[in-house]
Amino acid sequence: MKYLPIFYEITDKPCVVIGGGGIAARKADLLHQAGARVSVISPELGDEMSRFQQQGKISWQQRNFEAGDLTDYFLVIAATSDRRVNEQAAAEALVLKIPCNVVDNPELCSFIMPSIINRDPVQIAVSTGGASPVLARLIRTNLESCTPSAYGKLAKLVEKYRDRVKSTFPRVVERRKFWESILEGPVAEHIFAGRNDDARQLIEQLIDKADSNPSYKGEVFLVGAGPGDPDLLTFRALRLMQKADVIVYDRLVSQPIMDLVRRDAERIYAGKERSHHAIPQENINQLLVRLAKEGKRVLRLKGGDNFIFGRGGEEISELIDEDIPFQVVPGITAASGCTTYAGIPLTHRDYAQACIFVTGHLKDGSSDLNWDMLSHANQTVVFYMGLVNVQSICDSLKQHGRAASTPAALIEKGTTPEQRVFIGDLDTLPGLVNQNNVKAPTLIVVGEVVELHKKLHWFKPGEEIK
Ligand code: SAH
Repeated sequence: MKYLPIFYEITDKPCVVIGGGGIAARKADLLHQAGARVSVISPELGDEMSRFQQQGKISWQQRNFEAGDLTDYFLVIAATSDRRVNEQAAAEALVLKIPCNVVDNPELCSFIMPSIINRDPVQIAVSTGGASPVLARLIRTNLESCTPSAYGKLAKLVEKYRDRVKSTFPRVVERRKFWESILEGPVAEHIFAGRNDDARQLIEQLIDKADSNPSYKGEVFLVGAGPGDPDLLTFRALRLMQKADVIVYDRLVSQPIMDLVRRDAERIYAGKERSHHAIPQENINQLLVRLAKEGKRVLRLKGGDNFIFGRGGEEISELIDEDIPFQVVPGITAASGCTTYAGIPLTHRDYAQACIFVTGHLKDGSSDLNWDMLSHANQTVVFYMGLVNVQSICDSLKQHGRAASTPAALIEKGTTPEQRVFIGDLDTLPGLVNQNNVKAPTLIVVGEVVELHKKLHWFKPGEEIK
């Protein structure tokens, strides 16, 4: 081990940064965040450092570094562009035995700065021993994505109950078990979902009935999986996918996304293909309730977003009636993901001042929709589930005044490696479906913005690496 990883207490301690540029400013900011009294020695200050001075975060000594400057400090960071000054500072710090960091010069450092994931009071520090700061940053990014932002809050809650838990569970093994159940169970989930009061109540209850072996209630996670590309999942979606005991998923959830679900979780397919539902909606609601009542962490995973043509409202309404805890995680809806990957901006200052998401799954013919409104110019209309009715959709728009030459697109399996985009207008769109054997899931986009695809398309699926 080349370095000893430690966390250094510098609250209210005088620390000094030599240099006034951008890098120096970032170091000064870190020291300030850790509570230090930060002095900056530099003949001039860059923009950022000047701002810190105005905000009172640092005190500025407007001059060059001189021998004897470091006597009163607990920590030194040298961040000037002058190698000689940096060396001089490092040499003096060494004599005085003050920890010293010289930016971008590990040989002169008596300590190095790690990459930090900050969930105050939780801190994760990553170091490659100075070998590669870029690698350290990469590792940091990976850790960021699987470290919930609410860990800080969770740590504060735990800290508050530490003494009480210690006296309730005097034996170490039991105490550890208790804390594991808190940190991996519903109390943590309450915190992550922003239900702080529920978390407090539950932890109190669990401490109070410590002897009676409390049984945990299950919970439902209603998670939007986005349109297909697994990289479009949210951090929270991924975390819950890896935590759930049972997954109830739809046809629209892509295989690469299912591959990210916890391996040993039970999987229940609740796919909905047009006109033949694998499980009717009433039963899906009951299924979620039953699984949660069995104490399971149930992940309801759906394509896109649950609150956009996803029946999320119906499902949580039932959960509320049954008093089952749940959380809802938004996903990127097809209209957003697919048009982005097709290079079609949904709005544009010149062409579309509004955009409308509408279901093309028309109950009896097309009578349900307000076609007058949908046929206005200068807006983008996105039809979900419209493939089967593409002819009547195009006809209705034309009948209600939208020009037959209005550009229109079909986006099939958007955001996935199989994405196909077909561009036409209200006259030609139905023909394009037949000629190209377009299949669900497909999104229909109508409006002048569709034209922009020609110039703006950027996602090129299917291009093999040779
Ligand atoms: N809740 C989902 C929509 C469910 S309705 C969401 O927010 O995206 C199902 C319809 O969504 C499909 O008929 C299709 O029109 C559209 N859709 C979903 N994923 C798609 C994809 N990857 N490519 C094209 N259309 C998609």
